[in-house]
Amino acid sequence: MNQKKIGLKLISEYLTRLFPICRSLTGDGNRETLKILQEIIPLKIKEYPSGKHVFDWVIPEEWQIKDAWIKDKTGVKIVDFNKSNLHVVNYSSPIEGSFNFSRLKKHLHIHPEIPNAIPYRTSYYKKDWGFCVTHEQYDLLKKSNTSLNVKIDSNFKKNGSLTIGELLIKGKNNYESLISTYICHPSLANDNLSGTLLTALLAKELLKIKNLKRSYRFIWVPETIGAIAYCAYNKSKIKKIDEGLVLTTVGGPGPFAYKQSYDSHSSINSIIEDVFEGKEIPLKKYPFDIFGSDERQFSSQGFKINMASITKDKYYEYPFYHTSLDNLNFVKPEYIKQSLDLYKSVIKKIDGDSIYKSKLTECEVMLSKHDLYPKLGGSILSKNMQLNELNNILWLLNLSNGRNGIHGISKKTGIDRIKLKRTAEKLVSKGIMDKII
Ligand code: ZN
Repeated sequence: MNQKKIGLKLISEYLTRLFPICRSLTGDGNRETLKILQEIIPLKIKEYPSGKHVFDWVIPEEWQIKDAWIKDKTGVKIVDFNKSNLHVVNYSSPIEGSFNFSRLKKHLHIHPEIPNAIPYRTSYYKKDWGFCVTHEQYDLLKKSNTSLNVKIDSNFKKNGSLTIGELLIKGKNNYESLISTYICHPSLANDNLSGTLLTALLAKELLKIKNLKRSYRFIWVPETIGAIAYCAYNKSKIKKIDEGLVLTTVGGPGPFAYKQSYDSHSSINSIIEDVFEGKEIPLKKYPFDIFGSDERQFSSQGFKINMASITKDKYYEYPFYHTSLDNLNFVKPEYIKQSLDLYKSVIKKIDGDSIYKSKLTECEVMLSKHDLYPKLGGSILSKNMQLNELNNILWLLNLSNGRNGIHGISKKTGIDRIKLKRTAEKLVSKGIMDKII
């Protein structure tokens, strides 16, 4: 285990080592990435076999790639996988042969706006092959009057599998929060090597904390299919989780922003907003939408986990998104360090949040029976105080569903957190409510 302190040098070393690896939905690039992360934290590497049905999906065949190129007639490589793994459409079928440009061009992809960028393309669920090139390379291939030699040395492995990483950090309570990131993108630094590495660094920081209240489930999965497979393999555990974070695009030079979870009043959102305010970071927020990353799977009807993301140059939003210019000139160790500090503050607040659950959920508790109904004969001031407490009690009974924390209830009702917590503890002592965490 790497015992070095998380500083810029360490982040830089890991960025440099991890960046060139050709990751995908499956394959050795993902294993190699997770093995390197094992130097930082004791994550477990797990394999889910290809062909296995996971909800409405099937885990795909494992893709392996050794080499790929397009050569001109003199044998000069115009496009070379070894110079950038983005040159090959991810999950390309193997191909070898000579093509003239008119036949080749339907397999070529260029960026519509940035001439010197290699775009990132995939063909996961339709067997196809292709190359991604700069405008200059495209023009060179076009000018070639003779046939071009094309080779993609890839294959789909028999009895392969999909690889994921998992680390459960146990706190005093078994109640879990989920921290998820995706590992399927090849040499793209912000989306999402930054998230992959930050997740490991954050886990390393949490492992140092001795008195964590909650437990934290960290996972590194290929996007979509990996999250789906993980939910299928760990259904009962995932169903118990109420909130979490998807770590993505956290290493760019741009401003911090956050994408809300599906319930804008959930604790996770108010905690993030509090942290932004505390650190005087201008609040840039994206409401929940149905695109994005693995929050789609975790927020589906069967799981309904409130998953938020804090980003630094959010996916979709920066011009280098999904291109070869999303590289280590764009992502810097100091930006990842800034994201780490921010995420650490968020986790600290998550860990301090309390969750209660009303025991009687059908209609309301008879408050007078429990000596909770205000006696209205007092002075104006005490009457107001009593009414305030009644207001707090009624909101707590209404909103404490065992899944949303005091932080979120405070945000929704405008009632001070300390007052809410004090009243909640009173309701626990009266046997009306359970404390979940
Ligand atoms: Zn992406």
